[in-house]
Amino acid sequence: MTSKTPLSTLNINNRFVRELPADPVTDNNRRQVLSSCFSYVSPTAVKAPQLVSYSIEMAQQLGLSSYDCDSDLFTQVFAGNSLLEGMQPYAQCYGGHQFGNWAGQLGDGRAINLGEVTNSQGEHFTLQLKGAGETPYSRTADGLAVLRSSVREFLCSEAMFHLGIPTTRALSLITTGELVGRDMFYDGHPKKEPGAIVCRVAPSFLRFGSYEIFTARGDIATLKKLVDFTIRTDFSHLGEPSIDVYLKWFSEVCERTANMIVHWMRVGFVHGVMNTDNLSILGLTIDYGPYGWLEGYDPDWTPNTTDASDRRYRFGHQPQIAQWNLFQLANAIYPLIEQAEPLRDILNDYVSLYDKKWQIMRTDKLGLKEYLDTDKDLHHELHEILQLVETDMTIFYRQLANVDTQNIEQTDEQLMSTIMDAYYDPEQITEQIKDRVCTWLRQYQQRVQQDGTSNEMRRNKMNTVNPKYVLRNYMAQLAIDKAEQGNFDMVNELLELLRHPYDEQIDKEEFAVKRPDWARHRAGCSMLSCSS
Ligand code: AMP
Ligand code: MG
Repeated sequence: MTSKTPLSTLNINNRFVRELPADPVTDNNRRQVLSSCFSYVSPTAVKAPQLVSYSIEMAQQLGLSSYDCDSDLFTQVFAGNSLLEGMQPYAQCYGGHQFGNWAGQLGDGRAINLGEVTNSQGEHFTLQLKGAGETPYSRTADGLAVLRSSVREFLCSEAMFHLGIPTTRALSLITTGELVGRDMFYDGHPKKEPGAIVCRVAPSFLRFGSYEIFTARGDIATLKKLVDFTIRTDFSHLGEPSIDVYLKWFSEVCERTANMIVHWMRVGFVHGVMNTDNLSILGLTIDYGPYGWLEGYDPDWTPNTTDASDRRYRFGHQPQIAQWNLFQLANAIYPLIEQAEPLRDILNDYVSLYDKKWQIMRTDKLGLKEYLDTDKDLHHELHEILQLVETDMTIFYRQLANVDTQNIEQTDEQLMSTIMDAYYDPEQITEQIKDRVCTWLRQYQQRVQQDGTSNEMRRNKMNTVNPKYVLRNYMAQLAIDKAEQGNFDMVNELLELLRHPYDEQIDKEEFAVKRPDWARHRAGCSMLSCSS
């Protein structure tokens, strides 16, 4: 019997480097890279890599078994210390608009793509290490990632996947055994923190900024190569590239983006840094940085302290920001189309497309059969009452599913008691607020009765779109605090919890409650910076 070599099932197939123009310079020094989509660069070896966790679902999708993932080779490869035969590591060149301003060349400053693989179902994936050392795009930074941000990226990508939200994935989380210096709040207090590397996985990591960079440089030939490549690979159902297909492609990117944002709004996810370099061309949630989850429902909330004054990327602004970003993408691909009108039409359609998708989602969140024009007020008033006092969004929707809509004889107290858990400070609920909430609840009861849906049917339906468990900001921080002490149990516990976000998990109720008070103003729980 011959024993199989670990990872030998990975079918490495590097279409990106095979088909797109490479940077002819292979030195790893920082520079402007022209007329090329990527630069060859190797990961920097690390001292003492240790596997903290891996995603079973992601491993399985790649065709990897526990034998593969538990092997020393797995840790060495996904820490950047070894390459498998056929891997041709590279960093991508891209640009981007950051906080509304063109920032020029950015690129994979600390992401190194190991290569691409195709699984037995013919699905294509790029394997990318985040935090594996300097690249020509590292600008003034070190190419590394710290443990806290790596834990956050690892857990959140998989949590989003299990919530049914389009996202890049995470295969593994590995500590490097090295320290990385970071000034977390850019206030002159640098600290040494443990370093880590996440292996991210997606069909492609192309971003809006991947296209913008070539247009900004007037390099339309490379732009065309990249757009045609994108269409032939991840959008091949649209047909061979042509002006007509470019427009269809843009339209599909708008639709995928709208779909992703609807899901973010559904679960209360705030990305935090929706720069055009952080918007995936595939409509996947990408680049988990200072993201956060709404606790109290507040459309103006952003977790990102770097954005605290303008709140450009606040929760309620995400749909509009996505359109602003799509507008930049339209500008970037305009030279291939040379007609403004159809691009403008598609961009305008984004608004109605988003509204329609959001209407359907809101209908599902309330467990209603379909959206009726008369529901407008019901939705609007809900948006208002959620903001009267601090109301936990996740708990509210989950408890709303338990409101008895068949019994209209209930007193206000009885009605309110079902949703009471969602309130951070019940003392703040004045008579006036109680009246308003109860009036809404009674309207909701009537509306459900109009549908003729039973309590049980409605609850089951609502509980498939309103999660019980999300990665509350403080939960991630508790796991990080322990991980920084070398204890990774909670990272694995949360990974397990978040594999079933819609299920009741009787022994995990502690993770379905409101944010504890100590976490209200703690760094990492309510305030995050871009430092990672
Ligand atoms: P972000 O907005 O965090 O996605 O990053 C913006 C740009 O900064 C990207 O080009 C990143 O690759 C780069 N970047 C962020 N952190 C680092 C780092 N520690 N080293 C090198 N480049 C980085
Ligand atoms: Mg980024």
